[in-house]
Amino acid sequence: MIDLAVLKGSSFVVLGLARSGLATVRALVAAGIDCVAWDDNAASREAAQQAGARVADPATVDWSGVTALVISPGIPSTFPKPHPVAAAARAAGKPIISDVELLARAQPEARFVAITGTNGKSTTTALIGHVLEQAGVRCEVGGNIGRGVLDLAPLGPGGLYVLELSSYQLELLQTFRAHVAIWLNITPDHIDRHGDLAGYVAAKENIFARQRAGDCAIVGIDDAPSRAAFDKVAARPGIVAIPLQRETPVAGGVSYRAGQLVDADGYTVDFSDVPTLPGDHNAQNAACAWAACRWLDVPRERIVAGLKSYPGLPHRQERVAAVGRVVYVNDSKATNADATARALSSYRGIYWILGGQAKEGGVAPLAPWFDRIRHAFLIGEATELFAGQLEGRLPYSRCGDLQKALDAAHAMAQRQEAGEAVVLLSPACASWDQWKSYEHRGDAFRAMARALPGAQVLGRAA
Ligand code: ADP
Repeated sequence: MIDLAVLKGSSFVVLGLARSGLATVRALVAAGIDCVAWDDNAASREAAQQAGARVADPATVDWSGVTALVISPGIPSTFPKPHPVAAAARAAGKPIISDVELLARAQPEARFVAITGTNGKSTTTALIGHVLEQAGVRCEVGGNIGRGVLDLAPLGPGGLYVLELSSYQLELLQTFRAHVAIWLNITPDHIDRHGDLAGYVAAKENIFARQRAGDCAIVGIDDAPSRAAFDKVAARPGIVAIPLQRETPVAGGVSYRAGQLVDADGYTVDFSDVPTLPGDHNAQNAACAWAACRWLDVPRERIVAGLKSYPGLPHRQERVAAVGRVVYVNDSKATNADATARALSSYRGIYWILGGQAKEGGVAPLAPWFDRIRHAFLIGEATELFAGQLEGRLPYSRCGDLQKALDAAHAMAQRQEAGEAVVLLSPACASWDQWKSYEHRGDAFRAMARALPGAQVLGRAA
């Protein structure tokens, strides 16, 4: 746990008591710092009380003695409408900050690698953590992934924190400085929380805000907003700005394509044999990890060894089992067509399980990959919508639920006589019609696939 003793004498209101909020409360209580904790959910309030916090409705708080409001990134502080407690803090002229900001204040001599972008944050964060760990570099990994940042170990001078930061977390930073800032990509997302695309980009640009001469900015430049962000940060004196580009070499940067990256000096890394990093998108993640670890002086061969041994994250194109030649892949995290497109572009001979609660546009944007699909197996609420979109373009079956879909896909894939065959759960849908979360859905798929007769377990035994 991070020691927050440097904040002694301050007083905080903590709003939102899930993973990161509870960690914040525990760290404040341990340091003997005054705090009032609140969550609209009674069970969360109870947990905070058990952690020793003073639980009170912030509507009753006298803000004059409060230093700042520490808000969970999941709670709106501006758009679409500020939570009433955030509005009260603002009216009282109090700063609204996050646990990451407290970490930065409590660990002023540590170094921070911060990762943001619309897609690929968790993978890139986990990959960098893995490479550093394999190379023997002591670091702690957290943020939007894994542990809340105040649950991480104190590292002190020179220590390295690798943090996944969403746009919500970035807009709550005031003094945090990223020694290495990584910006993957931008596509319109979470616009409701930022007003418009410009607001979303501005929140993300906070990752570069307090960088100083000698710090490093690694930026994927394949989309227009990211290209513009790169140009801006590269124009700042002293910042080492490294562009990443798909396919085409770029001066001073790293180019990448599925299974391969090429550094500015022509040094080429082939990781096409790494099953946990398939597709162009994972090559972008690997290129980020490469550039960051090179900047941190990790020897090339150590980085290559780390990329090659990356175990992958659950629910993201996770290879969970094989029966004969057929591989079973859990991509339950793909809750929209964009994410599913990445998985479809990574395989051929696909027996595709999809459905759940549909997102706008459904699966119509996925037509460019339909030639890779042998058969589609529909589940959940989206069944009729998707049947209409696939009609005449792909053979499909209505399966109802995941177990029936897997059984049907398995039977059909096992009959395929030659070539690549993949049973892929990549639903392009939210899970809430039949499951508690995408993790719940993916865990169920993993267990079902591993229970198939003759199944060989692949990947971690999660
Ligand atoms: P995030 O943490 O940003 O949500 P993840 O690493 O969890 O990202 O990946 C989520 C999904 O996003 C993956 O299943 C994949 O479909 C897609 N994805 C991963 N990396 C990238 C990337 N660099 N560019 C575009 N899409 C990606």
